[in-house]
Amino acid sequence: HETKEKYVKDKKLGEGTYAIVYLGHLKADPLSKVAIKKIKVNTEYRDGLSMDAIREVKYLQELSHPNIIALHAVFSSKNQNLNLVLEFLPLGDLEMLIKDSEGIRYGTAEVKAWMGMLGRAVWFCHENFVLHRDIKPNNLFIAADGEVKLADFGLARSFSDPYRPMTYQVITRWYRPPELLYGARFYSGAVDVWSMGTVFAELILRVPFLAGNTDIHQLELICQAVGTPTEEIWPGVSKLEGYVGYEKASIVPVRGKDFYLARFGTAGPVGVDLLMSMLALDPRKRSTARQMLEHRWWTSDPRPTAKVDLPRKG
Ligand code: ADP
Repeated sequence: HETKEKYVKDKKLGEGTYAIVYLGHLKADPLSKVAIKKIKVNTEYRDGLSMDAIREVKYLQELSHPNIIALHAVFSSKNQNLNLVLEFLPLGDLEMLIKDSEGIRYGTAEVKAWMGMLGRAVWFCHENFVLHRDIKPNNLFIAADGEVKLADFGLARSFSDPYRPMTYQVITRWYRPPELLYGARFYSGAVDVWSMGTVFAELILRVPFLAGNTDIHQLELICQAVGTPTEEIWPGVSKLEGYVGYEKASIVPVRGKDFYLARFGTAGPVGVDLLMSMLALDPRKRSTARQMLEHRWWTSDPRPTAKVDLPRKG
């Protein structure tokens, strides 16, 4: 009755950067459906998934929340491949909705509903000392009932020990906060809040907000859109390993409300206020997931769209 004998792999569903995903079912229940994600071990991601991986992923099994993809089981197969048995979510992700492939229309009320579900998922992770660290639209699955499900904890890891240095090569570049781009090794839940802020911006714009081609380019885009990180607005930033100095003349002042309103006006002034608080350059000044959920945007008009009325595929 080993875990791996409880599940059967059926057809291959897809392949990502560091995993192959299969449709599967419980041996004892042929009508059940699960996704079995087999993590490739011999890739450049190996470091991120070695040794502690199973123990850490096991911990995620206990994270049970409506907005977090359920992890039913973890087992290793031959060659020590790591297999994750996940809730089967075939209706796609937020990226597909943003890209408008089927003429999907949505507005502020829908954005509010999706961001609320994302915010609750991330708040719950942080309450349980887990950083997600790879929040992006294609890690946000849409369930049949409209629920957003945060997925792909491949990089997530407990941050309960603040003295354990962490690798900073995490988070897909476009959603990566400035502290990680500067190589900070000690970081907090604020990294996920920045990523949520860039997803929020993308949901409004319907194109990626900060689509850098390289890490340097990513920082340039952040400077232009948000402001240049300096000691004045972010004490200690110049001591980060990867900090690059800026010529006085090239420093972009931190963008104010009018600048955001010109671009994100559809979210309204209260929505823009929330967005700005999530994109604070200094991670200590960035709002926390809890503060984000306490923001008055959630209770101001328009009210979030009901789950069942949210656009989705199929
Ligand atoms: P990526 O995130 O790079 O697309 P993944 O390894 O996460 O790669 O997933 C590969 C593909 O497998 C996805 O594009 C998706 O179509 C499918 N998939 C992943 N997880 C699930 C799931 N829980 N339920 C259904 N399909 C899934």
